[in-house]
Amino acid sequence: MTKPQNLLIAIDGPAGAGKTTISKMLAVSLNYRYLDTGALYRTVALAAHRQGVGVDDEAGLEKVCADIAIEIDGERLLLNGEDVSPLIRTPEITMLSSAVSAKPVVRKALLHIQRDMGRSKRLVAEGRDMGTVVFPEADIKFFLDASLRQRALRRFDQYENKEGRQSLEEIEQDIRRRDENDSRRDVAPLRPADDAVIVDSTTLPVKEVLDLMLSHIRPLIGHRLP
Ligand code: C5P
Repeated sequence: MTKPQNLLIAIDGPAGAGKTTISKMLAVSLNYRYLDTGALYRTVALAAHRQGVGVDDEAGLEKVCADIAIEIDGERLLLNGEDVSPLIRTPEITMLSSAVSAKPVVRKALLHIQRDMGRSKRLVAEGRDMGTVVFPEADIKFFLDASLRQRALRRFDQYENKEGRQSLEEIEQDIRRRDENDSRRDVAPLRPADDAVIVDSTTLPVKEVLDLMLSHIRPLIGHRLP
């Protein structure tokens, strides 16, 4: 029997489509590492915000990216050694991350961190441009989508017990704006790679989405998985 192949799995899609939940589950099922590339853009947004650098100040953003050290420690994101994981999830930093991510200097600065992690494969990488730009050679690419309302509802439920949460309408509006920013930008716009498997999870429970994805992955690794 041939050795199971080590895969690089790319998962893209709009905000709130369930990429994080599914990517983590896939990584656990396969015993792979997981890369949340959105967290990298969020960390740059936080650093720029703290330094008072505006989104239209490209030189300033370039300097922010050059000066900061971003480390990924499991689920934790370290900015110059400080765990900023909870700080990058506020609505303000979320919207800012979408704005800074449209800047070519920022995308360029973050490219090597992402590609470094992909080098040894056995990785589930999620984002907006995994299959199109960062890992065009990925072994399998998924584009996970769902209706805007369903995605907003999921985010709303996720934050249900958190303080200062937004209303469903506010969440839906923020997601719509982010989708527009992410899809219309010139560099690495959100879109499925030509060879991506499109999965619409609007009416599918998480378990079925996972099973569907595993049904595409299994043939690539010799049917040795759940
Ligand atoms: O995935 P998440 O919602 O955490 O991403 C935050 C923002 O980072 C997105 O709205 C998008 O603008 C940006 N992003 C990106 N490319 C990626 C991942 C995230 O532009 N690969």
